[in-house]
Amino acid sequence: MPMSTDAAPKPAARRPDCAAPMRLSLLGATGSIGTSTLDLVAADPERFEVEALTAANNVERLAEIAVRFRARHAVIADERRYPELVERLSGTGITVAAGARAVAEAAARPVDMVVSAIVGAAGLAPSLAAAENARAVALANKETLVSAGALFMTTARRHGTTVLPVDSEHNAIFQVFEDDNAAEVSEVILTASGGPFLRTPAAELASVTREMALKHPRWSMGPKITIDSATLMNKGFEVIEAYQLYPVGPDQLSILVHPQSVVHGLVRYTDGSLLAELGVPDMRTPIACCLAWPERRRTSVRPLDLAEIGTLTFEHPDRQRFRCLPIAEAALARGEGATCVLNAANEVAVEAFLAGSIGFLDIAAIVEETLEAADRGGLCREPATLAAALELDGAARRLAAEAAGAC
Ligand code: NAD
Ligand code: MG
Repeated sequence: MPMSTDAAPKPAARRPDCAAPMRLSLLGATGSIGTSTLDLVAADPERFEVEALTAANNVERLAEIAVRFRARHAVIADERRYPELVERLSGTGITVAAGARAVAEAAARPVDMVVSAIVGAAGLAPSLAAAENARAVALANKETLVSAGALFMTTARRHGTTVLPVDSEHNAIFQVFEDDNAAEVSEVILTASGGPFLRTPAAELASVTREMALKHPRWSMGPKITIDSATLMNKGFEVIEAYQLYPVGPDQLSILVHPQSVVHGLVRYTDGSLLAELGVPDMRTPIACCLAWPERRRTSVRPLDLAEIGTLTFEHPDRQRFRCLPIAEAALARGEGATCVLNAANEVAVEAFLAGSIGFLDIAAIVEETLEAADRGGLCREPATLAAALELDGAARRLAAEAAGAC
């Protein structure tokens, strides 16, 4: 498989001579990444002007932050909550809207930066709208890169939009990947905490509960990515994400399980150097890196004390116990839309697991079965447009729902 892209330039999100505040829109403002982003904005209020905030259905929190951060526009994806949003924001001067289309329209408002932090393929259309209209997109919504990475990256490149990776591993790599020496990069390494079941025997995995899977040992995150971390599908997604973001082939991407989660990503060069970014596991650091790029800004994140940690350990992931990882790697090798099917099937399976209707190991089985069914049906074609991506996503969801129903 060829390399994903040419070395991408990393221009600043704003003109360096610009003294005005940065105009920022935040998609998924009520979630884990959204909250961390607003924490940074609150710490440096004169640096930012909030244009739009969006959320799925938490109307109370959306209205509260819209007022607090003086947003111009607030959007709730769930249309049934629209009257409540109107009521809560009446007299504030903040404009309001509802529905999936309104979220994408909010993302299309011309700003210096859109932080794309919706969870799942619901973030695809808004991320693409941001790639067409913003100066920079700080991308947390990794499902965009898994579902339609080539489309997203081509769109950003065509519009001269800077893509800044929020995901901690990719942000680490962003910081140590020397674009000018891309040809001398021999390996890109993503670290993985290993999740809550790192030492759980294979025989016990079938009976782990939702509550056990939601207890991540290192990171505090939304429920969907927490389950993806427990199955290691998250790491599989991150390999695909790295492939889309950096000019490397799949054979140059590897994973090291590192339970302490302080080394986030590494880049190996042909001269023997291995460069890494380290920090405490706190998403405010990679988000702050994106917000300030190419400068640096102080945060209140606790500094990493290596002496206190003492020992850093690394090991290879267990692809036998965590089947989602090789399934994701195979989808990347397969190309042609297989990763879009992978993402959709995983969303259906994770939702079913969270609802208590399937077991933990059924997640991998459903995803694998969906990929096979999509292949048999000739569905796997690289989506060249948003409409094609959404169509493939929908078809894969129907297949996955059938597979989940049979569990
Ligand atoms: P979360 O569940 O805490 O928040 C998700 C946000 O998206 C919420 O604001 C929610 O209202 C909104 N949302 C959900 N469905 C929506 C829909 N259909 N339409 C519009 N908005 C919708 O999730 P999170 O942990 O903040 O993760 C967000 C994204 O960032 C995910 O793609 C995740 O993989 C990625 N990410 C998260 C972390 C982390 O530490 N949380 C780290 C790396 C990457
Ligand atoms: Mg990550």
